[in-house]
Amino acid sequence: MKLSVVIPIYNEEENINLLYEELKEVLETLEHEYEIIFIDDGSKDNSLELLTKIQLQDSSVVVVSFRRNFGQTAAMSAGFDYATGDVIVTMDGDMQNDPHDIPKFLAKMDEGYDLVSGWRFKRQDPFLNRRLPSMIANKIISVVTGVHLHDYGCTLKTFRKEITEGIHLYGEMHRFIPAIASGVGGEIAEVKVNHRPRRFGTSKYGISRTIRVVLDLMTVKFMLSYATRPIQVFGLLGVISGGIGFSIALVLTIERQFFGMPLANRPLLLLAVLLIFMGMQFISMGLLGELQARTYHESQEKPIYVVRKVLKSGEDEEKDSPS
Ligand code: UDP
Ligand code: MG
Repeated sequence: MKLSVVIPIYNEEENINLLYEELKEVLETLEHEYEIIFIDDGSKDNSLELLTKIQLQDSSVVVVSFRRNFGQTAAMSAGFDYATGDVIVTMDGDMQNDPHDIPKFLAKMDEGYDLVSGWRFKRQDPFLNRRLPSMIANKIISVVTGVHLHDYGCTLKTFRKEITEGIHLYGEMHRFIPAIASGVGGEIAEVKVNHRPRRFGTSKYGISRTIRVVLDLMTVKFMLSYATRPIQVFGLLGVISGGIGFSIALVLTIERQFFGMPLANRPLLLLAVLLIFMGMQFISMGLLGELQARTYHESQEKPIYVVRKVLKSGEDEEKDSPS
């Protein structure tokens, strides 16, 4: 088994050497082949020079340098693409994650899990602008995605290579990897990890991250539940809205026709028209969505299911994700 450790780096010059030494020490004690992949996410400080130096001395190190800052999600995604190991470990480049936790993760993976996620049960970050929003976000993500973890934001995670191949990341979606992975049928476990305060450099995020996370959550939920049947969401909304609008309009018409009540001074008429239009819009959006879903799956020859294995006489074929 080969390990690939993926580390996103954005302006972490004070941390790189310390992190590298600590990680190297841990990896040397394991009996696995390994590689360390640093993704330099367009750092503006000395990070790239330091990484280049390390790479020259150590052939187990790979450095992928982005042309500009693409964000942590893009960095992790690149890590998955360049990793050649069977198990991928992701961790932060700011030394907040403790490499000494890695053996615990590998032990869990040996139990057969496809993804093991860290839980920073004693998180060392400021309360008001980091831990509180994160507590709320964790609760919401847990309820909405149906994948129950205590901590979605912890970067320290391990993945089986096959599971990462079915995962495509956009936006700020790295925290939803467990949810996306469960969507392709991955078995997920959680282990408690040591979390340390940031000693050098500054955090790259603030409170503004919260709203982006909420928006991404909507996308993930939609992709998980309705991406292959958009008409069932939009169509339902359309039928409800159009139905109510039509009923109101019907009542108004009857009143006008048979009871001679005037229509011009009825605000309800406006509501009826609005609801009927909205209903039509929703239904057309659902139908367009259906077309899109077909384009999405058929242009990539990506089936709407994920096969673990095919059993037939003659040969047993392992298949973990569709190509
Ligand atoms: N990071 C990155 N690109 C970015 C922002 C952050 O590669 O645009 C890296 C950063 O260098 C660190 C990790 O992502 O290794 C987590 O960032 P940070 O520690 O700022 O997040 P926090 O721990 O505060 O949530
Ligand atoms: Mg950090």
